[in-house]
Amino acid sequence: MNKPENLIENGIRLDGRKPDELRPIKIEVGVLNRADGSCYFEFGGNKVIAAVYGPREVHPRHMQKSTSAVVRYRYNMASFSVEERKRPGPDRRSIEISKVSREALEPVIFQEYFPRSAIDIFVEVLQADAGTRTAGINAASIALADAGIPMKSLVSSCAVGKINDTLVLDLNKDEDNYGQADMPVAITKDGNITLLQMDGHLSRDEFREALEMALKGCEAIYEMQKAALMEKYPAQLEGDVIE
Ligand code: UDP
Repeated sequence: MNKPENLIENGIRLDGRKPDELRPIKIEVGVLNRADGSCYFEFGGNKVIAAVYGPREVHPRHMQKSTSAVVRYRYNMASFSVEERKRPGPDRRSIEISKVSREALEPVIFQEYFPRSAIDIFVEVLQADAGTRTAGINAASIALADAGIPMKSLVSSCAVGKINDTLVLDLNKDEDNYGQADMPVAITKDGNITLLQMDGHLSRDEFREALEMALKGCEAIYEMQKAALMEKYPAQLEGDVIE
């Protein structure tokens, strides 16, 4: 799409959403038989799968830690997931996203329970439409719970940004391409921020308002993550095990 004159008109975005509206979300828990935990997550035009393996032996051995588990996160974009074919294999962007996504999840994982072992998280992007790192973190958090990894909380993630001088939640590809700012955020249930990045510019006041908007978005996502897990594990989760 060429740069549209306005990305938002009379308070309605080009895809019909209001400024503070998330894209539709679809969640399926436990979609992969060979993974210990897995999740398929649709976030508007994004389609991602997360697979969790572990706790398991660490290879190569020198990577193991004597007092805690190592958490490894690999974000990968399929070559067919984007408009212009993505060259297969890791690149600067995927290495960065893998690192920040791992750091978004590590604070909630009880790593000290599993010394000398590895918890491996793989996120495969099948279709991308901006916000893939947030979709990946949402999926990975559910896949970790599905794998039975002890966690303090789920992690929920979405982006907020600015288009035509208006703050908007959860940017799509055109808004990301032609907008003024894009700020992905991840939080725990208690509101601890575990990821905060920013592309573009926001004033101090805009930043505060944007963060508030993102936190509300994450809270809504948390409810959907929890509902998806409750659907898969109705008996086990009665009595409010998920915090
Ligand atoms: N994108 C693309 N080709 C690439 C990388 C990204 O077309 O090699 C698109 C894709 O739709 C992605 C969007 O650009 O979702 C925004 O990418 P960004 O780096 O901001 O990360 P994301 O928003 O997906 O977390």
